[in-house]
Amino acid sequence: MIIGVPKEIKNNENRVAVTPSGVVEFTKRGHEVYIQTTAGDGSGFTDDQYTEAGAKILPTIAEVYDIAEMIIKVKEPIEPEYKLCKKDQLIFTYFHFASHEPLTKAMIDSGAVCLAYETVESSDRSLPLLIPMSEVAGRMSVQEGAKYLEKPLKGRGILLGGVPGVRPAKVMILGGGVVGTNAAKMAAGMGADVTILDLNLQRLRYLDDVMPANVNTFMSSEYNIRELIATHDLIIGAVLIPGAKAPNLITKDMLKDMQPGTVLVDVAVDQGGCIETCKPTTHQDPTYIIEDVVHYCVANMPGAVPYTSTLALTNATLPYALQLANKGWKQACNDSNELKLGLNVISGEIVYKGVSEAFDMPY
Ligand code: NAD
Repeated sequence: MIIGVPKEIKNNENRVAVTPSGVVEFTKRGHEVYIQTTAGDGSGFTDDQYTEAGAKILPTIAEVYDIAEMIIKVKEPIEPEYKLCKKDQLIFTYFHFASHEPLTKAMIDSGAVCLAYETVESSDRSLPLLIPMSEVAGRMSVQEGAKYLEKPLKGRGILLGGVPGVRPAKVMILGGGVVGTNAAKMAAGMGADVTILDLNLQRLRYLDDVMPANVNTFMSSEYNIRELIATHDLIIGAVLIPGAKAPNLITKDMLKDMQPGTVLVDVAVDQGGCIETCKPTTHQDPTYIIEDVVHYCVANMPGAVPYTSTLALTNATLPYALQLANKGWKQACNDSNELKLGLNVISGEIVYKGVSEAFDMPY
C-alpha cells in the first residue's frame, strides 16, 4: 500500500504520525511510505533518518495527499486539508467528529474513509489509542503542578517532596482512571502525600492494592471533596464520564476554602473541566488566578512533549496501521472488531452512531 504522512499544520502541533522505526516496519512488508519534508522535525526526527529508514520525502502536503492510498496523521484535517482528501482514500487519525460539524461535512463530501483513533475500542471497552495521551497528560500534570506551586509562579511555595524535617506537599487527584493513576505514580514517586478520589469502588480497591503507602484512596463525594480541598496544595482534575461533559466537582464557591497559592490542574478541560472555574488555556499562557488559586487548564498537554507523545502514540497506532496496510481497510475491519469500531465515515456515509446523533444526520 502507498502510505502518506503529512506534516501537521494545526497550530503548535509538533507530533508526527509515523517515526523512522515505523517506516522500517511498513517498508519491510512491501509498503511504500511518503513523508512530507520536515514532518518529523518537531518530534526530533530528521528527513535523513526517514530516508535511511526507507521513506521517500515529498516537498509539499498536496503531493503527499495526492499519492497516498492511506494517510496517517495525528490531528483531524483542518480547513486547508479538506480539499486534499480524496474519494476512497483511507484517513487514519484523531477526528473527534462529534464536536466538529464542518469537519464532518467536509469528510462526507470528500468521499474518504475516515477511521478515527479515538473510537477504536478493545473488547474490555478501553480506548487503546487514547490511553497513551492520558498517560502523558497524567504524568505531566504533576510536573506542571509542582512547577506552579513555586512562589515566583504564584503558588504556595511548597516543594512536592518536602525535605527531612518538613512535610511534603499534599496532592489530591479527582478520578483514578488512566490520567489519575499516572499522576498518582509521579506524585508518590516525588514523595508527596497523595489522595485519589473515585466513584468506582472496584477501582479504589485496585489502586489501594498497587499504590505505595503514601497514596490514600477516598470515595468521591461532595462532602469528602469539600473537606479535603482545604488542606491540599495541588489538586488534579482527572474524571471522565464517557460521552458526557465532565461534572463540576469543584464549584466556584469552594475556592475560598482553599489556601492561597493552591494549584488546580484540570486535565479534564477537554471535556469541559471538572472545576467550575476552568477555562481552556494554551502552553503559551497556561495559567490564570481566581481567588488566589492558580488554575492550569491546557487542553493539549501532550503537545508540550512531542518527542514522548509521538513515540507513545505511534507505539499504540502502528500495529493497527500495519493491519490496515497489509489487508486493506475492508478486510482489516472485518477481521478486527476493534478497528471496525474506528470507522466513522465511509465514502460519504456516517457509520458511527455517536456522530450521526450529534448532528442529526443519517446513519
Ligand atoms: P478514565 O476513563 O481512564 O478515568 C476517568 C475516571 O474518572 C474513572 O475511573 C471514573 O470512575 C472516574 N470518575 C467519574 N466520575 C467521577 C466523580 N464524580 N468523582 C471521581 N471520579 C470520577 O479517563 P482518563 O483517560 O483518565 O481521562 C481523564 C480526563 O483527562 C478525560 O476528560 C480526558 O479527555 C482528559 N485528557 C486530557 C488531556 C489534556 O491534554 N488536557 C490529555 C489526555 C486526557
